[in-house]
Amino acid sequence: MTAELLEAQGLEAAYGRVQVLWGAGLSVRERETVVLLGANGAGKTTLLKVLMGLIAASAGEVRFQGQDITRLRTDRRVRLGIVYMSETSGFPGLTIAENIRIGGQFVGAAELRRRTAELYTVFPALAERRRALASSLSGGQRKMLGVAKALAAGPKLLVMDEPSAGLSPLFVKEVIHVLARFREQGLSLLIAEQNVKFLELADRVYTLDGGRIGFAGTVPQMRADDAIRRAYFGLK
Ligand code: ATP
Repeated sequence: MTAELLEAQGLEAAYGRVQVLWGAGLSVRERETVVLLGANGAGKTTLLKVLMGLIAASAGEVRFQGQDITRLRTDRRVRLGIVYMSETSGFPGLTIAENIRIGGQFVGAAELRRRTAELYTVFPALAERRRALASSLSGGQRKMLGVAKALAAGPKLLVMDEPSAGLSPLFVKEVIHVLARFREQGLSLLIAEQNVKFLELADRVYTLDGGRIGFAGTVPQMRADDAIRRAYFGLK
């Protein structure tokens, strides 16, 4: 049995008087890929931001490797090894090299050089254009830059908000392929998505509906649940 990396329980969060999370919780173990599936507006982004400390929880608890991080600043969480990739994936007005440097800002200079060289071999399209602005990249390349920027920090857990957003099915496949490669190397992933294609990567799945966790289990368990299958895979 592998160790728990991230454990969250009873999380509540609101925007002003509008409560969005209602006692949500989830866990990610070492070397595990967990997909958080939910429709638009279900609260996925809010939940990830609470896990990252970008939004304060009004109730509940977040632990990382056993340490209570519920009130820890975001940069401290990044230093512990939880790194967030938002939907926008990087700063468009900066170059590719600058984005990667920002991603690795808490890493020592020599280590960052080593890591950057490694990332450029994994992402040759970024290496070729390292002095170009991120805004000049295609949607798919921007997403790859987002992944590279996050990996520059050397995360234990990569938390991703809808990596498929705005991508064609071809690029979605490419992103899944890249993530599978890092997953094999031992990276843990928490991926919020509406696109069921990402279930290919998932060891476990949670569904989020109206700010509450509905289903929690493996993909085969999910497919065996009639109501969940109808809701997420259509009437098959
Ligand atoms: P999406 O796929 O659209 O990003 P999501 O599942 O990530 O959806 P959230 O972005 O977490 O959902 O939004 C959950 C709810 O909170 C929605 O009803 C949304 O309108 C509301 N909400 C999100 N951000 C804010 C905000 N800054 N102020 C007020 N309400 C917000």
